[in-house]
Amino acid sequence: MDKIDFRSDTVTWPTPAMREAMARAQVGDDVYGEDPTVNELEALAAAKTGKEAGLFVASGTMGNLTAILTHAGRGDQAIVGEDAHTYRYEAGGMAALGGIMPCPLPTDETGQMDVAAVESAVSPNDPHFPHTRLILLENSYGAKNGYPLPPTYFQAIRTVAERHQLSIHLDGARLFNAAVAQNIPVTEITRHVDSVSFCLSKGLCAPVGSVLCGTAEFIQRARRIRKILGGGMRQAGVLAAAGIIALNSMIERLSDDHTNARILAEGLARIPGIIIQPERVKTNIIFFELAAEVPMTADEVVNTLRQKANIWLSATNSRQFRAVTHYWVGQPEVNLLLETLAEILR
Ligand SMILES: *Cc1c(COP(=O)(O)O)cnc(C)c1O
Repeated sequence: MDKIDFRSDTVTWPTPAMREAMARAQVGDDVYGEDPTVNELEALAAAKTGKEAGLFVASGTMGNLTAILTHAGRGDQAIVGEDAHTYRYEAGGMAALGGIMPCPLPTDETGQMDVAAVESAVSPNDPHFPHTRLILLENSYGAKNGYPLPPTYFQAIRTVAERHQLSIHLDGARLFNAAVAQNIPVTEITRHVDSVSFCLSKGLCAPVGSVLCGTAEFIQRARRIRKILGGGMRQAGVLAAAGIIALNSMIERLSDDHTNARILAEGLARIPGIIIQPERVKTNIIFFELAAEVPMTADEVVNTLRQKANIWLSATNSRQFRAVTHYWVGQPEVNLLLETLAEILR
């Protein structure tokens, strides 16, 4: 039996339609700009996000790093949420490879930085200070249950950025989850940012890749940075072919993942020994905890779930779990998780 994997939406296998398209993909050398399938994916991604051009990259981390290195240089400062993926979970790439200094700010329960605090963090024009160059945003906000942040937040940050001539990069790893959850076009969010990258390889089910989008001039410079990072790929059309299917047919169905996440969260709330605020679950990410009276650790619960039913969950600390819904876990799998967990905690 295949494992039932709630650890992340990165575990999604490519769909049968993707595998077929990959096998048939027309390819060329993409470093020469000659892979027609990559070119098609980049144009499609640009159109979807309302930007002039796109750049296919190997991962979300590479998309963000490429963007950051294109926007800012050594000694520059980037304002970023203290629990943002670009700050916490990308191995310090902006500092390690760019000499860029992050300025982390607190975020609220939805992942928003205080707009006035962002403005206060911008350095004055004084040689004591690093030159503030960039604001890094994220949507949906992974560390806050994948909260889908509204366009009004982006507009407010945009106003600050314009006042101080800063660029904005959006880490939109789950951008389409954010748009679908709010029932708005993705461009309502992306129109307020200079560049955006999103993952094809999470809920959209493609096996590999992200796309970075921005102005044609920005993407031309980003292409050079991608080459520096070793990300110039050759016959990458076999990968891009899956990405085209992801963008054409996997976006609308993300609402199913959100419905399943909500059902899972509400079911978890009914299990004695589990602490969760189901109303915080708006997309496909669910954090929940063990109540103090439960004698097991999160790791022990995770191991028992695996042994009993081949269900995989992430333990994020000794009392906390993360579950993520996606294409390959539907309502039967959600129900099995709820039943098995209730049995374990009884
Ligand atoms: C997954 C993720 C990334 C990075 O994507 P990888 O493809 O794993 O490198 C960046 N930002 C957020 C918010 C993510 O969830």
